Amino acid sequence: MLDRCLGTHRVRQIQRATRHGKITLLCLFMTVVVLRGTIGAGKFGTPEQDFNDLRNHIYASRKHAEPHRVLTESNQSNNNKNDEASNANDANNYAAFDINKILVDEGEDEKPDPNKPYILGPKISDWDEQRAKWLSENPNFSNFIGANKPRVLLVTGSSPKPCENPVGDHYLLKSIKNKIDYCRLHGIEIFYNMALLDAEMAGFWAKLPLIRKLLISHPEIEFLWWMDSDAMFTDMAFEVPWERYKDSNLVMHGWNEMVYDQKNWIGLNTGSFLLRNCQWSLDLLDAWSPMGPKGKIRDEAGKVLTRELKNRPVFEADDQSAMVYLLATQRDKWGDKVYLENAYYLHGYWGILVDRYEEMIENYHPGLGDHRWPLVTHFVGCKPCGKFGDYSVERCLKQMDRAFNFGDNQILQIYGFTHKSLASRRVKRVRNETGNPLEAKDELGLLHPAFKAVKVSSS
Ligand code: UDP
Ligand code: MN
Repeated sequence: MLDRCLGTHRVRQIQRATRHGKITLLCLFMTVVVLRGTIGAGKFGTPEQDFNDLRNHIYASRKHAEPHRVLTESNQSNNNKNDEASNANDANNYAAFDINKILVDEGEDEKPDPNKPYILGPKISDWDEQRAKWLSENPNFSNFIGANKPRVLLVTGSSPKPCENPVGDHYLLKSIKNKIDYCRLHGIEIFYNMALLDAEMAGFWAKLPLIRKLLISHPEIEFLWWMDSDAMFTDMAFEVPWERYKDSNLVMHGWNEMVYDQKNWIGLNTGSFLLRNCQWSLDLLDAWSPMGPKGKIRDEAGKVLTRELKNRPVFEADDQSAMVYLLATQRDKWGDKVYLENAYYLHGYWGILVDRYEEMIENYHPGLGDHRWPLVTHFVGCKPCGKFGDYSVERCLKQMDRAFNFGDNQILQIYGFTHKSLASRRVKRVRNETGNPLEAKDELGLLHPAFKAVKVSSS
């Protein structure tokens, strides 16, 4: 019939067009289905919702491509209070967001009983036996991972809240990156704590309950290495002389005369120390902690410490002064198991090191750990995460960057790069790429260092 009216050729044309039309419609349908799926317009969203979502999605995608134009557009659209896209845009702006909107602190801290003396936890007096039994029952978790190579857990941390200035969090990130690098190279495990386990022990005392909890939870750890968040590794090649501490339970940077004779509050530093996992250490933590509880106890103890210790300024009790006081007043009890190390910088005060980095690069090489190439540079008093420090912010941040880059250069050299200068975030190539990447040798041998290798026992 159609054939007769329109002619065979015309009918074929119409049939073809209908077929194409069907395919086009099918394609369109599929496109809508896929778009809805990827954009997440809501599985059962109304057509209006779908449209708004689509519009915002396309708007957002364009924003990445043409930031300048988007700025103009967003200014224009900001004028229109009813424009939903503009509201969505504000809500997407991280720079304008007040973080306090989402920070919640539920409930009050538990009030301590003022009549009970502070304790870190239930008394444990047979830890050595408990731990020895656990180790014998769990031979796969040996406390030594090689001859003279104890299993070590490096512990560090920072407050649960963001820093006072976002730049402080950036330096915390640099600092943990730096520690991850050192620990990876030296086969050390790492724990970053952001929880205040005991509200009474806030601030520099927070490490005590944390250290105790980690020691008794990880019997496989032989040494716990506490390191402040404001301390950075500046010698990536230096391996701690573990053998030297085989008869010691606590290793801190310090000097016997300054602690035991002078009772100087800076005779040792508690920003980077090694503590063996044993009963002696739990007892030491118990003896160290009584001055920690915040408020009256900490304030009053601060007065005692300032009176009894050499050169100590007036301020509340701090963990470092309390340690000096404990060792100086009870040397008989603790002294023989405490190793005050000064042959290398387990902790190194930044003030005497950071201006000498160029001179060190000129004359020495990593792996020495001492004044020629310090293992650790510790930014005592800088408080990059707090409101106020004891030094100028510019000096602290500039020098922290230099320390970070100084350490990072030793990591980058493994891969054939270096920072353009100690002040620069930028890097440059120091080696030509070749088709035989495995033949390239890093000069410090840090790519596959002996202290990283772990013997595989045949079991
Ligand atoms: N710290 C923590 N939680 C806190 C506050 C501090 O874990 O809420 C840690 C952090 O690692 C910090 C260390 O305690 O580095 C000691 O404080 P700080 O380094 O500011 O003291 P300083 O070395 O300047 O005396
Ligand atoms: Mn510190």
